[in-house]
Amino acid sequence: MRAVALDRFVTIGRRRLLGHFGAGLAVAVGGPLFSGRLWADPVFGEDPFSLGVASGEPAPDGVVLWTRIAPQPFHGGGMPMQAVPVRWQVAADERMASVVRSGEAIAHSEVGHSVHVEVGGLEPARDYWYRFQVGGEASPIGRTRTAPAPGAQLARLRFGVAGCQRYEDGLYTAYRHLADEQLDFVFHYGDYIYEHRSEGYAPEPGHLVRALPEPSDEIYTLVDYRNRYAAYKADPDLQAAHASAPFLASFDDHEVDNDWAAEIDQDGTPPELFLLRRAAAFQAFYEHMPLRRSALPRGPDILAYRRIAYGRLAQVNLLDTRQHRSDQPCGGGGQSRASCPAALEADRTMLGAAQEGWLQDGLAGSSAVWNVLAQQVVFMQRDRSGDPEATSYHMDKWDGAVAARDRLLRFVQDHGIANLVVLSGDAHNHWAGELKADFDDPRSASLGSELVATSISSGGDGEDQRPGIAAVLAKNPHIAFYNNQRGYLSCEVTPELWRTHFRVVDYVSRPGAPLKTRKTLVVEAGRPGLREA
Ligand code: FE
Ligand code: CA
Repeated sequence: MRAVALDRFVTIGRRRLLGHFGAGLAVAVGGPLFSGRLWADPVFGEDPFSLGVASGEPAPDGVVLWTRIAPQPFHGGGMPMQAVPVRWQVAADERMASVVRSGEAIAHSEVGHSVHVEVGGLEPARDYWYRFQVGGEASPIGRTRTAPAPGAQLARLRFGVAGCQRYEDGLYTAYRHLADEQLDFVFHYGDYIYEHRSEGYAPEPGHLVRALPEPSDEIYTLVDYRNRYAAYKADPDLQAAHASAPFLASFDDHEVDNDWAAEIDQDGTPPELFLLRRAAAFQAFYEHMPLRRSALPRGPDILAYRRIAYGRLAQVNLLDTRQHRSDQPCGGGGQSRASCPAALEADRTMLGAAQEGWLQDGLAGSSAVWNVLAQQVVFMQRDRSGDPEATSYHMDKWDGAVAARDRLLRFVQDHGIANLVVLSGDAHNHWAGELKADFDDPRSASLGSELVATSISSGGDGEDQRPGIAAVLAKNPHIAFYNNQRGYLSCEVTPELWRTHFRVVDYVSRPGAPLKTRKTLVVEAGRPGLREA
């Protein structure tokens, strides 16, 4: 039915195909077996690649290629309820002249007509370009890059850290600049979407920079989440970022519900009902990210923690600090030590026992120069009160599970894990600090460093230093840097030095802000501690 309706609105003159795909490639190479009903020769009235393309999960021999066929992206996708064959190509050059791998994937109705192609047989540590074709339509071309061979002595790694991109708060100018950097990969820590209602939710009056294409209440169903992802992913700057480099996609709270923890949401909903929502949210997350099949959700559960090696240079441990964590103690929010002794209870966890053991095994067995924890919420102790007589720790962060942080840092110290770098986000500011054996004793050993990426757009334009922050920083001598503008981290890592550029834009309320490097901090291998470049 829908296919017929779409046929009637066919336009020509959009990106049409295309010698290289041609009829000769119609035979699938390594395509999956599917005997169901196929929309074999689709014709589209609107661009089926409205959400762009992406790649992710770089390995030495391949990457995941992603797209979603969505001619009417804000209304459930606009596809007939039939599977559709999608052809893909990987080339050694940006004009797609030298195709090295190609095949056919099936975009299934069950997953919103998304495709996740796990391409293998590629060479390590090199750039590739890719595109898709469905019917007579070709996608934009994306650039990606494979990881180096296992054990390779990689001389240099360049990657970005980004997240927190509330659509209404600002433009994705920072993503446009990130795309220009042509990084080896981008770690997205989460808050890719925000689940709350689009109208009337603004931290400050007049904060709304742009409206979602369709006004929407808080989202609960799979179609709601799909439409929210589609609204965000239609942004050309976000599409440019995805087309520039492979992503390692993670989630934080707003992919599901603000401040959720395991089976517990913000509102006290019965857990068995919240898990229905979590299942819908995870399915939509999977559908819109370049993830492996191993991340396909099973009901309300998704396997999100994993490890990526960049030769002997870096071991990147991607953590999941939402699904297996303890609930925020004492009702959450900011709490003093006196008001919330529960934050110190020994059984509190951010990773859960299985993930914590997996992480310890990985760190203990690592032969990498740099040991990286790529995760979501601020890890280091952070007293957010500027009042010398008071303290305030945020219970949603690792400060709400002090014993879990202590266990990890003690493990790092006891096992001599060298060059620990924790990557975080969620705070909507840049922060950088040292990880202390005892955060209350500035003279105690530094066991590593933490780099917290500011938001891409959440919070709006911002300002360099918010009022009152100097008093906060004075109480946290292990914190080396703070900035409250929008941007991302750009890290440049060699066997000797980890250099972090804190990128910012002066405004996101109007287009065209140039990119600035607000600060560059370095960590020397073998010498824990942050210093000026
Ligand atoms: Fe956020
Ligand atoms: Ca968050």
